Amino acid sequence: MTQLKPIYPLYLNNKAEQPNADLEVTDKFTGEVAFRVAQADAKTIDAGIAGAVAAAEPMARMPAYQRQAVLQHCVDRFKERYDELAYALCVEAGKPIKDSEGEVGRLIDTFRIAAEESVRITGEVQPLDISPRAKGYQGIWKRVPIGPCSFISPFNFPLNLAAHKVAPAIAVGCPFVMKPASRTPLGAIIMGEVLAETDLPTGAFSVLPAHRDGADLFTEDDRLKLLSFTGSPGVGWDLKAKAGKKKVILELGGNAAVIIDHDADLEDAVDRVIFGAFYQSGQSCIGVQRIIVHADIYDRFRDMLVAKAKTLVAGDPKDRNTFVGPMIDVKEATRLDGWIQEALAKGATLLCGGKRDGAMLEATLLENVDRDTKAYREEAFGPLALLSKFETFDDALDEVNDSKFGLQAGIFTRDLFKTLDAWDRLDVGGVVINDVPSYRVDNMPYGGVKDSGLGREGVKFAMEDMTEIRNLVIRRR
Ligand code: NAD
Repeated sequence: MTQLKPIYPLYLNNKAEQPNADLEVTDKFTGEVAFRVAQADAKTIDAGIAGAVAAAEPMARMPAYQRQAVLQHCVDRFKERYDELAYALCVEAGKPIKDSEGEVGRLIDTFRIAAEESVRITGEVQPLDISPRAKGYQGIWKRVPIGPCSFISPFNFPLNLAAHKVAPAIAVGCPFVMKPASRTPLGAIIMGEVLAETDLPTGAFSVLPAHRDGADLFTEDDRLKLLSFTGSPGVGWDLKAKAGKKKVILELGGNAAVIIDHDADLEDAVDRVIFGAFYQSGQSCIGVQRIIVHADIYDRFRDMLVAKAKTLVAGDPKDRNTFVGPMIDVKEATRLDGWIQEALAKGATLLCGGKRDGAMLEATLLENVDRDTKAYREEAFGPLALLSKFETFDDALDEVNDSKFGLQAGIFTRDLFKTLDAWDRLDVGGVVINDVPSYRVDNMPYGGVKDSGLGREGVKFAMEDMTEIRNLVIRRR
């Protein structure tokens, strides 16, 4: 039986420290305090940033095979600590145990990909003699680490979204300070524990759950060269405005749409849409929020989807049969409950769900939803999805684009030309054919446009952002 410790330290300049342990982290299903975590004040965060600055040069000089060995050590240790990590996620995030195990699997993938990529960082030899004045010149460019990085991660994938920053940073040789989400800090702390077993230079990493008063340093301190933030759009864009000269990467929210065309395999589409909409209680930035269905199959698809949604087991995330666990807290569940009531008051039809008990909100499907509602316009980030009907494929594409967000979109179709049209026309970071927008593997480029963010993650792409190109020009005499 997996047990969690009562108190966890923070990691400052590669070492565990326990200055206090005043951050109480609850079991998101029972609401009871599950463990306590040390928090960094402004002085501690400042020391972490100073350590990262000092580590920049030794990190940049670390040979690729050593960076790879560090990443491989993490892969091996995460495999050994698989059950403990999954249990930690299940408790601190209320994530159903099977999904928690899935996230640990992805954590291992992310570090494995980074270990592979760490020895493949290349540049280019470029002839420069494009005009008479450049005769005899040639260039060579290479990538060098950008320097000390600042990472801020959200509550919903406490391990793998931290990993999408930490693993690429080690792969390229950047030191970093990381602030995990206060509601789910443990995943990143265990990552710190594993990194502390390696011989990374002192200051290479700090994992610092932070008091509010010090959190600004992660954004505003000029010694940090890059801010990579994953979280809500409001906070992300606000931090970008305060980030000064840093390079800023924002992985923010969405209200993703899926199109079900008339030739879709309906049983397959229903299974996948159910997963995309209600997996992890819909608390995924690419969770299915809007389901846009061809008029010819609308009634059949809707009836199948509602029947399936009604079978989902809700309850204790530690139970292997549970599909829908609690939302992260009562406040968030109450917020979404309010949006459902607003949509109903404006004429929507409730197809299933709609009831709330504390942080537990039923898997809810609505149709006939007015587009001028929060449920349609904003990010639901909970177990709510809306059905609408389309006549022409062009109309469906327009509806997907009728959003301030643009992360990913899904389309169930067998038509290659529609696929290519959608790929051209949809204003999103990625289009997924014959699956939901919620699909992601950890080596693909991933990120959004419009309010959904700036830049791409996916190990190789994050590594590019964490480097600068340094050119060398040679004149032959
Ligand atoms: P959040 O914005 O509330 O918090 C994200 C992180 O920012 C946390 O660590 C939080 O403590 C920190 N934070 C908040 N205010 C801060 C400040 N002023 N200064 C410094 N740090 C601050 O988001 P959340 O509720 O944890 O996560 C949910 C959001 O994240 C959703 O909008 C979701 O769509 C988004 N998200 C996006 C992606 C993606 O890859 N695009 C992935 C997962 C989640």
